[in-house]
Amino acid sequence: MNAEIIAVGSELLLGQIANTNAQFLSKQFAEIGVNVYYHTVVGDNPDRLKKAINVAQTRADLLIFTGGLGPTKDDLTKETIASVLEKKLRMDQEALESIEDYYRKVNRAMSENNKKQALVLEGSIVLPNKNGMAPGMFLSIKEMNYMLLPGPPKEMQPMFLEFGRQAILQEMKIIEVIESRVLRFFGIGESQLETDIADLIDSQTNPTIAPLAGENEVTLRLTAKHSTVERATTLLDVVEKLIQERVGQFFFGYNDTTLPNEAMKVLKEKKLTISSAESLTGGLFSQYLTAIKGASSVVQGGVVCYSNESKRSILHVSKATLENDGAISEQCASELALNVKRLMNTDIGISFTGVAGPDTSEGKPVGTVYIGIALPNDNVKIYPLSLAGSRENIRERSVKYGCQYLIKEILNQ
Ligand code: ATP
Ligand code: MG
Repeated sequence: MNAEIIAVGSELLLGQIANTNAQFLSKQFAEIGVNVYYHTVVGDNPDRLKKAINVAQTRADLLIFTGGLGPTKDDLTKETIASVLEKKLRMDQEALESIEDYYRKVNRAMSENNKKQALVLEGSIVLPNKNGMAPGMFLSIKEMNYMLLPGPPKEMQPMFLEFGRQAILQEMKIIEVIESRVLRFFGIGESQLETDIADLIDSQTNPTIAPLAGENEVTLRLTAKHSTVERATTLLDVVEKLIQERVGQFFFGYNDTTLPNEAMKVLKEKKLTISSAESLTGGLFSQYLTAIKGASSVVQGGVVCYSNESKRSILHVSKATLENDGAISEQCASELALNVKRLMNTDIGISFTGVAGPDTSEGKPVGTVYIGIALPNDNVKIYPLSLAGSRENIRERSVKYGCQYLIKEILNQ
């Protein structure tokens, strides 16, 4: 399909406004594969508009008009098109009601010439105007197509995106595909994430970006529409890149994956084995990892070392550590991680110690957590956290943080 965009309005010719409608529409057409060969601007003058239409019909098969759909005398686009195409104008009941509704809402009397805005070309598909009064139109006659859009960009753009675009795609027999992608984040709150990408959420129409808070996680659903899967995917890729540049450090995976799943994937890829020493989490980490099929090539085992006695006797945490630093300490997390790794003869050891509540422990507040990760070279990384929430929530989130840090450490190796 070859398009010509015809902007109607003397103020454009007088240099009072720039023809941003043509710019917007050209970009849109490039996206859906419609060639735009000409931009025409013509004043509010029926004779010159007629001439412009006659010329355009010889070189394009899609004529897009913007402007001149309003109620005043100089708004003559549809009347002129009707006369060139020898079509009648009919009163569109829905458009009329929507205009009447508008006047009721703003509590003003509707004048007779406002009714004129509800007149549409016979045989045309009416494009509703959700941001103003004058409806748009799409008319196909044999091989020629005509689309009439209002002048104000605030009305024209949403109308095109919601209705105009679809009408053209249908005419081109292009079935639109819808592709979605969910991005999952952990360690960042919903409001922070939304703030960090607020401008992207506000400005994107294709793809759309929809945030959703899940269990201790935040997700963004990106949805793109296009003529082919490949093109829709490209749109998703572009927006995802912008998002990742801002909040990528909290991203962990796509669609319905989980953090334990992603941790398992990375461990497998790097052919690493793991064991765990769990005080705070009482085996929850092991439970999550072993729930994934194929875990046996990665998970060797673990120790639930809830009491200080078990930390000492099974995992040889030093007496000095337990007496001086306490069980809830960096030092203890470090010894637990390293010693479980040695005991189970694995590449990696991970430990969880902390206060899940509801009571404090060793004088440390509820939510104090230490996660230790002993790496293949025996280096131990300690991650201290202070988490808010219920006992269940603190244990749950500790496991997820453990997985996130694990992924980060392995990928840093
Ligand atoms: P209205 O119902 O507001 O009269 P209309 O469809 O009749 O809308 P016009 O009267 O031609 O449209 O233009 C109304 C306003 O829309 C203009 O004053 C201008 O601000 C804006 N506008 C019109 N055409 C363009 C254009 N090509 N590019 C950018 N803005 C435009
Ligand atoms: Mg007008």
